[in-house]
Amino acid sequence: MGEAMRTSINKRFPWLKFAIPIVFGAFLGLVVAGVMHGVRGETRNIPKAPMRIHSEVPNRVFRGDLTGKKLVALTFDDGPADGVTTRLLDVLKEKGAVATFFELGMRMRAYPHITQRAIKEGHEVGSHTMYHQNLITLPEDAIRGDITEAKDVFREVLGEGPELTRVPYGNSNDAVKNVAGTPLVYWSVDTKDWESKNAGAVVENTLSNTRDGSIVLMHDIYDSTVDAVPEIIDRLRADNFEFVTVSELAEIRGVELVSGETYSKFEP
Ligand SMILES: [Zn+2]
Repeated sequence: MGEAMRTSINKRFPWLKFAIPIVFGAFLGLVVAGVMHGVRGETRNIPKAPMRIHSEVPNRVFRGDLTGKKLVALTFDDGPADGVTTRLLDVLKEKGAVATFFELGMRMRAYPHITQRAIKEGHEVGSHTMYHQNLITLPEDAIRGDITEAKDVFREVLGEGPELTRVPYGNSNDAVKNVAGTPLVYWSVDTKDWESKNAGAVVENTLSNTRDGSIVLMHDIYDSTVDAVPEIIDRLRADNFEFVTVSELAEIRGVELVSGETYSKFEP
């Protein structure tokens, strides 16, 4: 376009030099809005990334030297519970301790981000079944239905697992053992936290009954239980204990876990 022609266009359409940037700006705005909408829409549909059940987290205290230490596995049932489990995870993180959570499928489905956080922070998560039914009162197909539904939730939320099961009320029979498809984990120390709902009582119950290789039963649905955990960790450490997950405890003690078998402690 020659100089003369441009001058002529500017003269005949003086508004053009304003109109072009405005039209271009509006077009750019529409493109950006469209892209942002696309990004948001896509975020909603992104499948959850599979996560390892045993994630490697650097600087975990138990990754340090365990030589000469007594070992204990703290376990928490019935969660995840919004507010309670999250506060417990904060405490465990601050103390550099790990635990094993036996979670209900129905609650995992409601709070998947809490379960995912627990795994990310180095804890172990096993199944406590889907709906906390007393399995020994159910016909085998109903037992299978509950356990299978919980497994589906593990696939949804974590991409795999569960590798361990704790049956509600500690009640299992041959049908449960056949259907579980994982080892069944019981406990050797019952804190009775659900009964006392008192942090001091939970601390004393735990300290007076925990031995090297114990599996301690608690519930991450009571604030009083979470209140007890910092003192439990500090006083057990003062007594030369360190904290490991159930699978780690079994591995360290040389026990190969078998599907359908029951375990309540891994003493030396
Ligand atoms: Zn339970």
